[in-house]
Amino acid sequence: MKTLRDLHQEIIEREQKSGRVFLEEPFPYQMDCLLHPEKYEKKERMTAVCDMEALAENEDLAAVAGELADEEKKVYALIAPAFMGQFGEKVAPGQIRSALKAAGFAGMVEVAVFADILTLKEALEFDKHVVSKSDFQLTSCCCPVWIAMIRGIYGELVPHMPGAVSPMIAAGRAVKKIYPGAVTVFVGPCLAKKKEAKEPDIADAVDYVLTFQEIKELFDAASIAPREMEEDEKVHSSRAGRIYARTGGVSEAVQKTVMQLHPDREIMVHPVQADGVKACRQMIEDIRAGKIEANFFEGMACQGGCVGGPKALLANEEGRELVNRYGDEALYQTPLENPYVIELIEKLGFYTVEDFLEKSDILTRDFGGHA
Ligand code: SF4
Repeated sequence: MKTLRDLHQEIIEREQKSGRVFLEEPFPYQMDCLLHPEKYEKKERMTAVCDMEALAENEDLAAVAGELADEEKKVYALIAPAFMGQFGEKVAPGQIRSALKAAGFAGMVEVAVFADILTLKEALEFDKHVVSKSDFQLTSCCCPVWIAMIRGIYGELVPHMPGAVSPMIAAGRAVKKIYPGAVTVFVGPCLAKKKEAKEPDIADAVDYVLTFQEIKELFDAASIAPREMEEDEKVHSSRAGRIYARTGGVSEAVQKTVMQLHPDREIMVHPVQADGVKACRQMIEDIRAGKIEANFFEGMACQGGCVGGPKALLANEEGRELVNRYGDEALYQTPLENPYVIELIEKLGFYTVEDFLEKSDILTRDFGGHA
């Protein structure tokens, strides 16, 4: 059985032969706040005094502020891939991490790392199930509105959707697996995620969902200015996971990963995307009418994808540009070449490709589709 590490090594060697250059030694292990938080424990909790009255009217925010004030609890912020620039164009991810820690969070976990992991799962599912010209796959990676639309209205297409959880759910489950008792708070531009987090079969993963707007209110109430914070270490998501935040990101990520898995594969990923509910419905109608040639379908309920989410603090186009820039800065293109992702998957207990695909129950959801 091939291990994921063997596969990683094989791909690095192949990429090197084609002229790519990788770091000899990847930076010291940097998924720190997830894997080694004890090294980065904040010295004081709530260094800034939070104006609780200002938060009291918002139930979710007041509840999270209460958790943060509890010395016994370790509260992790799981920040959505759309976070770039949301707290100021020049505010670096490390400054957002510092701001969250100043507000009392034990750490900030980039959900993009779990988007990387789900990309690998989607790519392996594609490899397994799309073997003839008539086969196709609908992504289950990201948008709960898209998933609900397929499950609720177009049930006959469910078998074409891999049974995978969203990166948010994967991140919450991973944090809780590694740190039992941890409190998980997803932070993003999306209101639908509040509902997704409460769906009974996945309600174990994320305790609270806050929007960027709500986190900004928390920062304001605690007089925390992210742009004035020191930068707290870098992060190591791949381009693949970082670009999930905009339409076309999931498609590009899965397409590149499948290509790396099997450069000679006869049937490659031919993606098509729709954004906005109307366009998603139209795309599904076209699939049903046999009008589309593609074999990979990505649906995002918001215009432009999550950067166009209802609680994004930036205009859609600006968010897209910053997400693309962040993607361009990534050291690794795909999860398969990213040593941090491979290490995290191992930390979660999966060493072989088969185990990752068949036994990764924290990443799996039963839609009644692919076995
Ligand atoms: S596209 Fe919109 S509804 Fe879908 S996950 Fe992103 S922000 Fe939420």
